[in-house]
Amino acid sequence: MNTPVIEIRDLHKSYGTLEVLKGVDIAAPAGHVVSLIGSSGSGKSTLLRCANLLEDSQQGEVIFCGEPVAWRGSGLGRHPADRAQVTRIRTNLSMVFQQFNLWSHMTVLRNVMEAPVTVLGRDPKEVEERARHYLDRVGIGDKADAWPAQLSGGQQQRAAIARALCMEPKALLFDEPTSALDPELEQEVVRVIKSLADEGRTMVLVTHDMKMANDCSDHVVFLHQGRIEEQGPPGQVFGNPQTARLRQFLSAGE
Ligand code: ADP
Ligand code: MG
Repeated sequence: MNTPVIEIRDLHKSYGTLEVLKGVDIAAPAGHVVSLIGSSGSGKSTLLRCANLLEDSQQGEVIFCGEPVAWRGSGLGRHPADRAQVTRIRTNLSMVFQQFNLWSHMTVLRNVMEAPVTVLGRDPKEVEERARHYLDRVGIGDKADAWPAQLSGGQQQRAAIARALCMEPKALLFDEPTSALDPELEQEVVRVIKSLADEGRTMVLVTHDMKMANDCSDHVVFLHQGRIEEQGPPGQVFGNPQTARLRQFLSAGE
């Protein structure tokens, strides 16, 4: 297997006395899509947020392209030690959230251009060209000059995906990207995510949409109460679940 873009080993994360992640390992090799499924509260969002260092943790390793995160402190108060490393990792793992989080006071085009220009210091002319390319790529090239409020939820989420792509990250992290959308708008976002999977992007996809997880993933991880209960290729996880908990989870969703 190639060096994973992002790998997590034996990660432990607590909020006060609440132990949310109890020793979790995941790896997203380049060109692969790993989906995380599990009940609400099982720790999926926490795991994604630990992966791109939006959360501190207590124990375990976070490894980006073979480079382990350097920690300062230990036990209850462990933080990343190296700001430059944090920036390198965050800018290479672009997040797409359930609630789009577009800036309402900027046009769609400016939203997509903002981080490459201000965080990465790229040339605005070159970024604009790239931003328009990615807006076309997600099918909303004609909305470049619109305001976020003028877009449907599905269009806003596609703008958020274009914004993540415009960072040219090594991997995309999705946290329930379709769960705020009406069913008829969900499909346009699912199609974009599927097309990104098909073109070989590295992605970690947290989703409640088992069909999308089945169609887009190379590997599916089922989290239960902060531990990996079962994992495998989608055909196995969905077609032949081994544990009672996964069987119960899958049948409850139908
Ligand atoms: P999921 O995304 O699988 O629904 P989360 O990772 O959001 O689960 O949450 C896992 C657990 O951690 C839940 O019990 C949640 O209430 C708790 N939790 C999440 N974020 C915080 C926080 N900032 N402070 C305290 N508890 C939190
Ligand atoms: Mg969540």
